[in-house]
Amino acid sequence: MFDRASVVTPGGVNSPVRAFRAVGGTPRFMVSGTGPYLTDADGREYVDLVCSWGPMILGHSHPEVVAAVQEAVARGTSFGTPGEGEVALAEEIVARIEPVEQVRLVSSGTEATMSAIRLARGFTGRAKVVKFAGCYHGHVDALLAAAGSGLATFGLPDTPGVTGATAGDTVVLPYNDLDAVRAAFAAHPGEIACVITEASPGNMGVVPPADGFNAGLKELCAADGALYISDEVMTGFRTSKAGWYGVDGVRPDLMTFGKVMGGGFPAAAFGGRGDVMAHLAPAGPVYQAGTLSGNPVATAAGLAQLRLLDDAAYAKVDAVSAELRALVGDALTKEGVAHTVSAASNMFSVFFTDRPVRNYEDAKRQDAFRFTAFFHSMLAQGVYLPPSAFESWFVSTAHDERAVERVAAALPAAARAAAEATA
Ligand code: PLP
Repeated sequence: MFDRASVVTPGGVNSPVRAFRAVGGTPRFMVSGTGPYLTDADGREYVDLVCSWGPMILGHSHPEVVAAVQEAVARGTSFGTPGEGEVALAEEIVARIEPVEQVRLVSSGTEATMSAIRLARGFTGRAKVVKFAGCYHGHVDALLAAAGSGLATFGLPDTPGVTGATAGDTVVLPYNDLDAVRAAFAAHPGEIACVITEASPGNMGVVPPADGFNAGLKELCAADGALYISDEVMTGFRTSKAGWYGVDGVRPDLMTFGKVMGGGFPAAAFGGRGDVMAHLAPAGPVYQAGTLSGNPVATAAGLAQLRLLDDAAYAKVDAVSAELRALVGDALTKEGVAHTVSAASNMFSVFFTDRPVRNYEDAKRQDAFRFTAFFHSMLAQGVYLPPSAFESWFVSTAHDERAVERVAAALPAAARAAAEATA
């Protein structure tokens, strides 16, 4: 299948991390998923610790989500008109997340962050955007700029195809460094439209914000008249009922969502302060649109999933996450492998270093080659981990004792493989 795919698709995949380039080997092609398990094209079953990179927080093929989708599909798949499902999903989001007064639905997290930044620029009349090294906000041109060294480096294009002009208004700063943010505002007073940050980063591995970091960002933005955008595409409706906002309570001006809110379908959103959202077309002058935005099948899936995510569901996901973290940590300790299990609520990842990881530079200093050995051992034993040392692991309400036991049984050999790995 990978050979077939490689003929007709660049690198054989439709999203680069799926190609296993960071860990080597051949990506598995999945044909079905049930609860905590995935089955590949060769009939092998895996305990899934990726959960489609976050969305499948109820596990695969949850009967109530599937029923909602089937019911919606039977009524038609796209109308290109307003519909009840999108209103209900927007109401659910607004009800759960207090700073969100209004929300606009889109189809991917990338669209959400791209639109939020456009809106911030339109609202403030300013051009510059501050982002942090190691934070991923989708493949928005202006946000693919990575950090150089120093405090307030002007972003240079990180990928061919992003022009210097596009990236030139992006200021990339080290994560968890408020002094760097202060320096950027001092260097560009009245020029910064927004600071965008992952509410709690999961795209350099899991690196939670230091105490007071998000609050400090909010304060610095408010003092300068810039908007504080919290990207909750990954954390939203996952790290608590109200996402990371439900954990740290720092009130963003704008927020972005995706993943869990789509129930496994392409649905995402951005929202926030009513006076800012009022600048969006057709209420205001900042243009934004989408043929499939608010799609009735996607919104039915998202709504069904969110309605099942009550306090008990989050308690279950948190408990499974804590159990797995302890098991992984114990197995690696037993084999003398230097590691740090880093968690933000129920999101977690394992850094193969015992030095503290507070930003992207720290994360890159880990022994990633040990992760490669660990990953392949787990895979061979039927546990599907994210194929990169710089990704969060995800669990679901469907990860029951049997699934956890299967992970536990695989860990000793994987930890040994990590210990024996050479660079
Ligand atoms: N923002 C964050 C924090 C993400 O983790 C991602 C995707 O992983 C995105 C934005 C982009 O979302 P999408 O892949 O749906 O475009």
